[in-house]
Amino acid sequence: SANSNSASNTNNVSVVVRLRPIVPHETKRGAHKVVHKVRTIDSVLNGAKENDEEVVRVELAPTLAKASNNRELVKCFALDGVLEEQDSQEDVYKRSGAYKAISQDLFRGFHCTILAYGQSGSGKTYTMGTMASKPQSNTASNSTFAVTGSDVLDPEAGVIQRACHDLFQQVEEQCMGDATVELSYLEIYNEELRDLLSTKTSKLSHSSALQQQKERERLAQQEGLPLSPNSSGSQGGLQIREDTDGQVFVQGKTSVAVTNAEQVIELMRLANAKRVVASTKLNEVSSRSHAICILTVTGTNSYDVTFQSRLTLVDLAGSERLSKTENTGWRAKEGININMGLYVLGLVISALTETRSAHKRHPPYRESKLTRILQNSLGGNARTIMIACCSPTDYHCEETVNTLRYATQAR
Ligand code: ADP
Ligand code: MG
Repeated sequence: SANSNSASNTNNVSVVVRLRPIVPHETKRGAHKVVHKVRTIDSVLNGAKENDEEVVRVELAPTLAKASNNRELVKCFALDGVLEEQDSQEDVYKRSGAYKAISQDLFRGFHCTILAYGQSGSGKTYTMGTMASKPQSNTASNSTFAVTGSDVLDPEAGVIQRACHDLFQQVEEQCMGDATVELSYLEIYNEELRDLLSTKTSKLSHSSALQQQKERERLAQQEGLPLSPNSSGSQGGLQIREDTDGQVFVQGKTSVAVTNAEQVIELMRLANAKRVVASTKLNEVSSRSHAICILTVTGTNSYDVTFQSRLTLVDLAGSERLSKTENTGWRAKEGININMGLYVLGLVISALTETRSAHKRHPPYRESKLTRILQNSLGGNARTIMIACCSPTDYHCEETVNTLRYATQAR
């Protein structure tokens, strides 16, 4: 109905699911596809409320169905969109609403946030393009902001590459006079905030960070205390502060003035390479950390309105530990606070989407570093897009259900 249609528009949060193709290691295990997009009347019967909702259907293994309270063999989830194996990087970028957010909302002064959520191996980094090593081809340009024609964008380019490309193009098209774009690139690991663009060399190595964390856990356990996320013995960890206008900022973070997409990609590539050098277990780091790319645009738009808006692109930590946390109770797990961000993000987003609820809660932004950083970029007039990444196979069915549950609650 017309009424329910507006509900998802007013809260400015949209959630889409992306199913990745089956990968070789799943084929080797004889995995088969159990997650499908459904388009039939089925979907309406199974919970689709609006015309513009799309539904994904998961066939549960009998053991899994038995383990959950209801014994249904299928579960359906309604979302703002479902992207399938055959959908391209460009399809994901357009149909998730990312393109619209960047080309319109950002230049009207709204902060935009795009998050990739899902278990490790589900396609978050592929979708965001976080680790893309191929630099985009550079076309010479005499203007301040180099514009690369969309025809030369690599089809494999992820959200970050596409977002940068369009952002600079739109600066050229929509901004009057001088405009500036600044890049920051942060990482949250163990509730410690790190500056990935910092030129200071003394970075905490992965092994020493792990050792430090283990020691903190041991001490906390000895004293019978839960380890609070704020007690992090941060060695050079950045601090988050709030100014008198309620704007949250990261104190002393590196901001680099950038003038074209290639520059952004190159800076991120170098920063990622540093992450690789810092750790021999990159997968472990990336599955436990949130990588946060922030582009701040300051300019005057075609309505002659001066604006400063932030585009925040986040490759979230793997969600698999979150489900373990859910099983054991998160308070008890504060010591291993790698999941704090994901857990609190879920609470914040569902509080934000409860627009009409009688028991509307205040989103608990302060409970994690991730949500604290995103405080001004989620809710309010900000535009938020979550891309929930999933494997389509029976092998990962349980995690997929967890991801879809999280994604559905976030709407
Ligand atoms: P995550 O970041 O969630 O751990 P990755 O993005 O690293 O997952 O994806 C895991 C593997 O699956 C990688 O080899 C990646 O290239 C591949 N992959 C993920 N999504 C897709 C996709 N849509 N198309 C092709 N390959 C994909
Ligand atoms: Mg990844």
